[in-house]
Amino acid sequence: MTAEAHPVVSIVAPVFNEEAILEELYRRLSAALDGAGESWELVLVNDGSRDRSPQIMAELHGRDPRVKVVDFARNFGHQVAITAGADYARGDAVVIIDADLQDPPEVILDLLARWREGYEVVYAVRAERKGETWFKEFTARLFYRIIYRITEIDIPMDTGDFRLMDRRVVEALKGIREKHRFMRGLSVWVGFRQTGVKYVRAERYAGETKYPLKKMLKFALDGITSFSYLPLQLATYVGFIAAGLSILGIIAAIILRLSGSQAFYGQASTLVSVLFLGGVQLISLGIIGEYLGRIYDEVKGRPLYIVREAVGFEE
Ligand code: UDP
Ligand code: MG
Repeated sequence: MTAEAHPVVSIVAPVFNEEAILEELYRRLSAALDGAGESWELVLVNDGSRDRSPQIMAELHGRDPRVKVVDFARNFGHQVAITAGADYARGDAVVIIDADLQDPPEVILDLLARWREGYEVVYAVRAERKGETWFKEFTARLFYRIIYRITEIDIPMDTGDFRLMDRRVVEALKGIREKHRFMRGLSVWVGFRQTGVKYVRAERYAGETKYPLKKMLKFALDGITSFSYLPLQLATYVGFIAAGLSILGIIAAIILRLSGSQAFYGQASTLVSVLFLGGVQLISLGIIGEYLGRIYDEVKGRPLYIVREAVGFEE
């Protein structure tokens, strides 16, 4: 089989220590797409895996040249990995999918059908999640609802990165090089004709999640800071409320003092209010810090990722 220079659909899968999954991913994908007679390529982005994933990817490429590999010089993170995959992909449509088979490859055919109807972004909506802890499910639901509320763009609820993007959308995304990327927000921000397709999110095929709590929190913060100033404005709101309350407090203290009351004497009330405001000020500083650090990362202007080797893309 020869590699086609220009496949119709590129499937992009980020890979971080997924040795137990890659064979099955290839099997399920090729079965689904070949079964439907699609012309495709699979772009695997090795995000600094420390297991046997790179060897397996090279093996898959040797067996089927439609499998291509972008090998990062280190771990750059999930969102950067899918960006790189979309940069290298050459299909008329690009589908982003998790490597762990939580996004069933068969759903790609549904995405393609909507694309052929004329939609330029077709995202897959999780109607149901299987085998997820209640904590993950709860925090994910909460996160999607918060971000929907506080951002100006309508990021669809319960939608991950599993989506199809038309070539035009991919080209638009290539012009957006911000470092703390929230791809599911950016692909809405660019506009175009968008629609959703429902699917049941499966259990992870093997291995465990590569998103520990710390990464999840960073991801949530990146999403919120990328699309909302609300956290910065909170300081203003809390400031006005605190100032208003303290004016009432001053008036109350004067009246009480004039009427000879003993209330408001002692250190406790002073201490509590000073500590409270000190806490609020530190939190506000921290929020500014979150934005400032992200501005600093942008200003440094480093490339988004470093590629050790890209295999299979030569004409
Ligand atoms: N992933 C990655 N780099 C990372 C973390 C994850 O490329 O630093 C990949 C991972 O291999 C998988 C996808 O991103 O293909 C989603 O990760 P995972 O399934 O662990 O997340 P979850 O589904 O648990 O949220
Ligand atoms: Mg997963």
